[in-house]
Amino acid sequence: MMDEFGIIERFFKRQAVRRDDVVLGIGDDAAVVDPASDGDWVVTTDVLVNGVHFPESTDPRSVGHKALAVNLSDIAAMGAEPAWATMGLTLPGVEEHWLEEFASGFLALAEEFNVQLIGGDTTHGPLTIAVQLIGRTGGIGHLSRGGARTGDSIYVSGTLGDAALALQIEGGVLAAGESDRGYFMDRLNRPSPRVALGRAMVGHATAAIDISDGLAADLGHLCRSSGVGAEVNVDAVPVSAHYRRHLATVGWDPALSFGDDYELCFTVAPENDRMVENAAREADVGVARIGRVTGSGVRWMRGNQPYPVSEDGYRHFR
Ligand code: ADP
Ligand code: MG
Repeated sequence: MMDEFGIIERFFKRQAVRRDDVVLGIGDDAAVVDPASDGDWVVTTDVLVNGVHFPESTDPRSVGHKALAVNLSDIAAMGAEPAWATMGLTLPGVEEHWLEEFASGFLALAEEFNVQLIGGDTTHGPLTIAVQLIGRTGGIGHLSRGGARTGDSIYVSGTLGDAALALQIEGGVLAAGESDRGYFMDRLNRPSPRVALGRAMVGHATAAIDISDGLAADLGHLCRSSGVGAEVNVDAVPVSAHYRRHLATVGWDPALSFGDDYELCFTVAPENDRMVENAAREADVGVARIGRVTGSGVRWMRGNQPYPVSEDGYRHFR
């Protein structure tokens, strides 16, 4: 059976990305990178546990994609440019087909975003993937959760709730046709991190966060960090055409209170509304203006009526 050195050699060394700023990549006791250009480093880590962060039935290529995508989404929310990744991989055994697919999913997304995998650790145990991703601001600054101001417009990218419906279908709670099912599963398993949009919003957005725990929870985090409130028009929250077909059955809650969307939520001064639309077009992603920043408290409205929304996102410990 292949040992960890064989695994690293065969599955993780064969990446297409060779960055100039990597002095020493995989293969030594540690990696060496050359920060060369101006600006700050932006560092994030996300851990994926089998059966907790993805259903055990998830295909390995999707697991590899998602392990990097969730980190790219954090880098996107900071408005940074991703550069280097390390991976702590814990495996219950050596299944070559699984590893081949997993590595392909990870490295394909890495190539798309010019991220080089520069090191990691491979151990035996329950399937867990911990990725650290390091990005750079390139001297133009970064975004954060603090900084939203009363009167700012609130935006959300892409569509929300698709991953939630995938899990409902997976759990047998929701019935859907093949094409809807395929769409929702793809949104759950292959999120598209909004790196270009985040980058374009640096210097324009007053605050930003990525939606991993659900809009209600994450907008709550943004508001608390900024010391502001919000008023959200529920009917303006962007959902896909596929979601809309099930809206009468599932309602708005999966789009508002569920996680795993990996879209961006950000605030801008109202005079920047036009700028946001242009940036979104450039980044090839839709954006929707869902409400505005207020003095305090988050209010959800449908027309003139308050709409009850739980701010409880996903929590591991409660
Ligand atoms: P050490 O014992 O010095 O910590 P290892 O034998 O664990 O080194 O790893 C050998 C090399 O392979 C190191 O450069 C390490 O960073 C890299 N590596 C180990 N596991 C992974 C992984 N899953 N992905 C990428 N690189 C890895
Ligand atoms: Mg060592």
